[in-house]
Order: sequence, then C-alpha cells, then structure tokens
Amino acid sequence: MEFGNKLNSEMALSLKQTLPLLIKKIRLLISCCTLCGNACQQHQLLCQYCQADLPYFKEDLIGFDLLSWPAIKQALPKTTFDHLFSLAPYQWPFSTWINQLKYQGKTELAGLLAYLLAQRWQQYLSAVEEPKVAEQLLVLSVPLHISKWQERGFNQAHLIAKRFAKQFNYNYQPELLIRKKITQSQVGKSGVARRKNLANAFRINSAYLGEFAEHVILIDDVVTTGTTANEICKLLKKRGVQTITLLSICLALPS
Ligand SMILES: [Zn+2]
Repeated sequence: MEFGNKLNSEMALSLKQTLPLLIKKIRLLISCCTLCGNACQQHQLLCQYCQADLPYFKEDLIGFDLLSWPAIKQALPKTTFDHLFSLAPYQWPFSTWINQLKYQGKTELAGLLAYLLAQRWQQYLSAVEEPKVAEQLLVLSVPLHISKWQERGFNQAHLIAKRFAKQFNYNYQPELLIRKKITQSQVGKSGVARRKNLANAFRINSAYLGEFAEHVILIDDVVTTGTTANEICKLLKKRGVQTITLLSICLALPS
C-alpha cells in the first residue's frame, strides 16, 4: 500500500514536471508565426527565421546601454535614469505589435515582447563581468492612470514587466508606483511642455517603502523623450535608489 502511494506521488511529480514542457511542445506544433505563417520553433508567435531578421539595435556596434552612444546621449541629455536598454527603433514589426497590443487588445503579444526582452537581457547578463543578482534588483513598470486603465482594461508595460521579472526571479512590485494625474498625450509637445504636463504626475505608494532595492529596472513599452521615466526616476532616487536601468521595447526619438 505504502509502495503504491510512493509510486503515485512519484508519478504525480514527474507529470507535474513534464506537463508544462508537453503543453509548450503541443502549442508550438499547432502555432504559426505572426509574420510569415510558418511553423514556430521557440515561441508560438514567431519563427526563428523572422526572429533572426528583427531590426534590433546592434549591440556589437553601440553596446547594450544606448546612453553610451553619443547620438542618443545628445538626444536625451538630462536623464535621471542611468542606463537605457531598448530592443529596436520604433519600426515594423515592433511598432505594429505595440499598437495591436495597446489598441486592439492582443494581449498575447505582451508575452512575445517580454520573451524578446528577456532574451536580450540574458545576452547582456552573459556579457558583463559581475551582473546584479536578483536580491539586489527591483522591477517596476510605468503605471497608467486608473481611468486610462479602466478604458483599456490593462497596462501593457505591466503585462510585459511581470513576465520579464518572472523569467529571472526578480522582485516585481506593480503597485509601488501610482500615476495620480491624468496626463494629456505627449505627442507634439515641446520638452518644457512635456515636463510641465508630467510634473507631479506620479507618487510612491507608501505601503511599499520596505520593498526598495539598490537597483531598479523600470519597464515601459516605448521611450520617446524619456520625460516620463525621468519624473519617476527622480522620485525613486529621492528614496535612495542608486542606479536605474530603463528597459523598453522601442526607442522612438523625436525627429
Ligand atoms: Zn516567421
């Protein structure tokens, strides 16, 4: 009897371990690439050939931290974040994926974007000598105002950030930052107008003061002038955060 119970629990354990892998394999078998329609190998929405052709920033030329590139540093001169990682310029297919995610509710694309972001971050971790360990890091996402959240039903930055953080076992606190002001669209506004629009737009939820770490990864879908991130990073640095890495899918510098 005891032997039978042991066997059952061992079988349950082995099923628990193999089931997710099996489900992933089945999903891959029945999925096709969103870009070319061919069979997928690693992620159910993108085949390996289309993935290899994505218009990434070339880290072999400019490094992972885009702020080390003079042209980008010049375009974003007064950042309060210390490092900037973006996968690509704001162009197809990333621009289409972000639009479909935000405005057509294709939330499965958050999984694809988080997967691509995590792959890039893993390459960075492998390239640096002493990468930060999970205990030193806190992941945050740029919050939406509650009224915007109600209108859209989700925050795309949150959907990406929670999957990204899970992949690396990083502490993620989606409710630490609060957007308290409804801001108008930043599109077409000058630098001064953007800062005025976003002044005092965020606050820190005092219930989470014990969660701060030395290093923060702040996640947003698209970075344009960096004004939004700057406002948040000012608050975080006042709370003693030492370094902040802004991590985004796209960088869309204003022309
Ligand atoms: Zn493809």
